[in-house]
Amino acid sequence: MGKPLAYLHDQLEQWRREGSYQRLRVLESASAAESRFDGKDVINLASNNYLGLTTHPKLREAAIEATRKYGVGSGAVRTISGTMSLHLRLEERIAAFKHVEACVVFQSGFAANAGTVSAILGPEDHIVSDELNHASIIDGCRLSRAKIHVFPHKNVAAADQLLAQLEGAPGRKLLITDGVFSMDGDIGPLPGLVEAAEKRGAIMMIDDAHSSGVLGRDGRGTVDHFGLHGRVDIQVGTLSKAIGVLGGYVCGSRDLIEFLYHRARPFLFSTSHPPAVAASCLAAFDVLEREPERIAALWDNTRYFKAGLTAAGFDTGASETPITPVMVGEAALAHRLSRELFEEGVLATGIGFPTVPKGRARVRTIVTATHTKEELDRAMEAFGKVGKRLGLI
Ligand SMILES: *Cc1c(COP(=O)(O)O)cnc(C)c1O
Repeated sequence: MGKPLAYLHDQLEQWRREGSYQRLRVLESASAAESRFDGKDVINLASNNYLGLTTHPKLREAAIEATRKYGVGSGAVRTISGTMSLHLRLEERIAAFKHVEACVVFQSGFAANAGTVSAILGPEDHIVSDELNHASIIDGCRLSRAKIHVFPHKNVAAADQLLAQLEGAPGRKLLITDGVFSMDGDIGPLPGLVEAAEKRGAIMMIDDAHSSGVLGRDGRGTVDHFGLHGRVDIQVGTLSKAIGVLGGYVCGSRDLIEFLYHRARPFLFSTSHPPAVAASCLAAFDVLEREPERIAALWDNTRYFKAGLTAAGFDTGASETPITPVMVGEAALAHRLSRELFEEGVLATGIGFPTVPKGRARVRTIVTATHTKEELDRAMEAFGKVGKRLGLI
């Protein structure tokens, strides 16, 4: 009798043959503008540490102080005995920052999306979803067992038409989109989608994982960027990207948040954040408001790097944000570009199917506020050299 898991080995072998097998790179320093991976110092264009907060002294101090005072763990899930005053302070801080009634923090952005969509909808309901929405939204939709209607990327008219066709059908309707799309770096057409949701009586939900700390005043996200306060029912954000720590949150009405206390499964069945996480996230929101120069530097670096790549002849797709993909086509070529960039001292990740559609493989770059122009120049030089060698430019 063969081993029952032998098929996994066969699949891995196939990925190796196809060149899509991925070995994990090991980070041996802090995540920063330049980091040490697999024994080599490289310019790090592969983190979501947009504002350099992973190593900010105020966040470090807050984490250490909270650990000294409260220990390393919360001891339980939120609904049993794991709700600490620090958790509630962080939620109040985020709600005030976002200009909403209330907020609940989850263990991750993934848990926030999956836990929220699956809690508020059931099998009789309908979801209208952008085809490039994040995996955590897709999983939340599947877990809810609602009927899923996918519209072409950023196509407001198609979303509106789907909602129109559902008018009169039983069940609730949810219109859901990423604020900034994580693989392409383009911004969702929020004003049009919000209007469609209002017109058709649908719940409007936006996932701002890549726009919190990046877009809007002091990084308040895409709702603030487009001036849509009060018109979006559910805003999700992450504390794991620009905020520099770990976690996800849901912002909305007090009723929404209290409902999630009772029904969101990651909230009910998975332990809350350690004190250090809550305290360092709290410190991060102070930094956002007190050091606006970080967001300015992020956008300055974004423009500089994007202009350099474009001038060199690379295709950066539809990007409008610090997420800048270098479009390549085949996954094997994207992974080869990534490997050769690493040899030249640059970490930028190759991304292929199933994270992006087949034939749309790319190397994704994310500049941060803390990269120097000299580092960006060196990175562009490496891109130019390897890009020529591989016939991309
Ligand atoms: C990263 C990401 C998430 C997940 O956030 P984590 O806090 O890392 O779990 C959710 N949605 C989008 C669009 C993301 O890019």
